[in-house]
Amino acid sequence: MWEWLSDKYDLLATWIFETAIQPALYSLGLMDWAEDAFTWVGFFLFGLVQVAVVYAICRPLEAWRPVEPHQDRRFIRTDILYTLLTRLGVLPLIGFVIFFSADAWLAGAMADSGWIPPNLEEFFPVLRDVPWLAMLVYIVVIDFFEYWRHRFQHTFGWWWALHSIHHAQQHMSFWTDDRNHILDDVLQAAWLGALAVLIGVPPGQFPVILTVLRVAESLSHANTRIHFGRLGERLFVSPRFHRLHHGVLGAGATGRNYAVLFPVWDWVFGTANFDRERFPATGDPEAPQAYVTGGWLRQQWEGVRQVVLALLGRRRNLPARVPEGD
Ligand SMILES: [Zn+2]
Ligand SMILES: [Zn+2]
Repeated sequence: MWEWLSDKYDLLATWIFETAIQPALYSLGLMDWAEDAFTWVGFFLFGLVQVAVVYAICRPLEAWRPVEPHQDRRFIRTDILYTLLTRLGVLPLIGFVIFFSADAWLAGAMADSGWIPPNLEEFFPVLRDVPWLAMLVYIVVIDFFEYWRHRFQHTFGWWWALHSIHHAQQHMSFWTDDRNHILDDVLQAAWLGALAVLIGVPPGQFPVILTVLRVAESLSHANTRIHFGRLGERLFVSPRFHRLHHGVLGAGATGRNYAVLFPVWDWVFGTANFDRERFPATGDPEAPQAYVTGGWLRQQWEGVRQVVLALLGRRRNLPARVPEGD
């Protein structure tokens, strides 16, 4: 099925490119850029599909059972801008170029050293015969590393200075997933890209895995009073589970529920909270004002300033502690 999908996808990208982009480049005398532009069309389309899928799933749920029935659209707008810039705009292009140059560099360095990355399918030949199982294993491994990336965002002062933009939102919606500093996006792209190469994710599967992660993460930010039940809460991250991570819970604030897809990591590492009744208010009372009410540009600029302050040891808003027992 993936082959069929990716065929159709290539056809559509080619069609958009040939009808809209190529003539424009030609008339502007920019045909040297044709190849890069084509790559960008592919990426743009990929982002568009993601946003459409996420919207189709999350918007009805938010309308059905909102946690906050009357959200102030002014605050949501910033998050929508984050999503559009991150998914469709110039940013993916930058990320894409960095990602592929880093990827090529890593692959080259490994080829030079004669070291061949371990491929999960070599260790477990059964995976070769059952492609969906192979994909599931890749997703579980990636999710484990995503748990730790997120823990580190809350552990190191400079990283928390960036991630606290994400946590400053007091009116959380499914758009909030993309509310991240550009530097944080770059770090994530590098982290995931390197990981994908190291464990040998087939290039064709990587976009599918990213889409699964994206949809799950957007859903987990949705302004909706939904939990997956006693067992389900322990199997998959729900809007309730992640809202608790964003909750204003007093001093030491957001020290739990770091998982992205599977709460099992929080359970294993002692950071889980499965209280089904809690849908706390979100936000970070200690965040700089620009993080709370500022627009995109102001938040980006303030983010750089806050990282510098953190590195100089002059930032007062310190990362959350990991809770001990509960
Ligand atoms: Zn967080
Ligand atoms: Zn979040």
